[in-house]
Amino acid sequence: MRLTSKLPNLGLTIFSKMTQLANNAGAINLSQGFPDFEADPKLFALVSKYMQQGCNQYAPMQGVPMLRERIADKVQELYRATYDPASEITVTSGATEALFAAITAVVNPGDEVLIFEPAFDAYVPVIELCGGIPIYIQLKFPDYSIDWDEVRDNISAKTKLIILNFPHNPTGAVLADDDVTHLIEILEDTDIVIVSDEVYEHIVFDGYPHLSLASYPELASRSFVISSFGKTYHVTGWKIGYCLARGALSRELQKIHQYLTFASNTPVQHALADFMLEKDVYRNLAAFYQHKRDVFERMLQASRFKPLPCHGTYFQMVDYSSISKESDVDFAQRLTVDYGVAAIPPSVFYHRKNDYKVLRFCFAKKDETLKEAAQRLLEV
Ligand code: PMP
Ligand code: GLN
Repeated sequence: MRLTSKLPNLGLTIFSKMTQLANNAGAINLSQGFPDFEADPKLFALVSKYMQQGCNQYAPMQGVPMLRERIADKVQELYRATYDPASEITVTSGATEALFAAITAVVNPGDEVLIFEPAFDAYVPVIELCGGIPIYIQLKFPDYSIDWDEVRDNISAKTKLIILNFPHNPTGAVLADDDVTHLIEILEDTDIVIVSDEVYEHIVFDGYPHLSLASYPELASRSFVISSFGKTYHVTGWKIGYCLARGALSRELQKIHQYLTFASNTPVQHALADFMLEKDVYRNLAAFYQHKRDVFERMLQASRFKPLPCHGTYFQMVDYSSISKESDVDFAQRLTVDYGVAAIPPSVFYHRKNDYKVLRFCFAKKDETLKEAAQRLLEV
């Protein structure tokens, strides 16, 4: 049978590839972003309770009502934003589904979509499936800041959407007040929509706040704001996320969600609704991961690797230029096989494969895992 691929240039993601390589080599896996420690047992008990109570059939399409209410309360408290749980919050099967639904809801063939590189891998394939045209803007190495003049220069009558992801995977960059001011000013008097991927919203370091686009009425009215419980509660395998969006944006998103998955896992949604009442869990998450960032960075100081600034997320970018001239892809493979530590080569997040001789390490790991990995990196 002859089949014309809609995504002819795509294979297995770098996350699957590096995890596979790490497993085969018996390496410590600091590549794909997931914790190697368990979530709170209370959460498991809650899921079990709701399963046994019979919450095992389809949830409402938009999500379990109590979970939507809890999300609305949290967003009100943290971002001073009012979202109607009945119509403006959609629970999805991971942030990935929300991203797919949001992009698909607005991008038509020929529409241009601004995205910042390095870019998480779940944006461009969806833009392309919709017939959209990605317009790439590079975050400026090495601080990964946004050149707003370049953004302005790249906006045209065809620009339909801008995708933002802060705290930023893979670089750990976060938004500053100035960035938001520029964004508001540039988008004024346009119909450009925003997808704001904020899955690391609770992981911002050094006392800085997370600037959610939900907080700014001028932006919230044109934004899909997306988050994920996987990151916040150490359960990336549960794949539950959500999307905040106003009026027509929310309606269009729900049409896609309705036929993409219809609804997400029922007992897990009930459990998350209860667990959201334990507010200290997300309030303490930044300090929890800041400690891990600091443990990892401190140990690397004795090595030839040079950590770049990391302001948020659970990823640390590390410069290896004083060690090797190899491409980041080659070096990441050699590091995995010869030294037993797997990382992600960020060139894969650029359409032109920009190679700045850095690697991304995930520090969502037990302290002893980080220490063992650092020991191995000291030998390089
Ligand atoms: N966006 C970013 C930036 C991510 O790092 C991830 C992590 N996997 C996702 C979206 C997807 O989240 P989820 O696992 O909830 O689909
Ligand atoms: N977000 C995770 C990361 O950046 C990976 C998600 C995935 O495997 N698709 O490592």
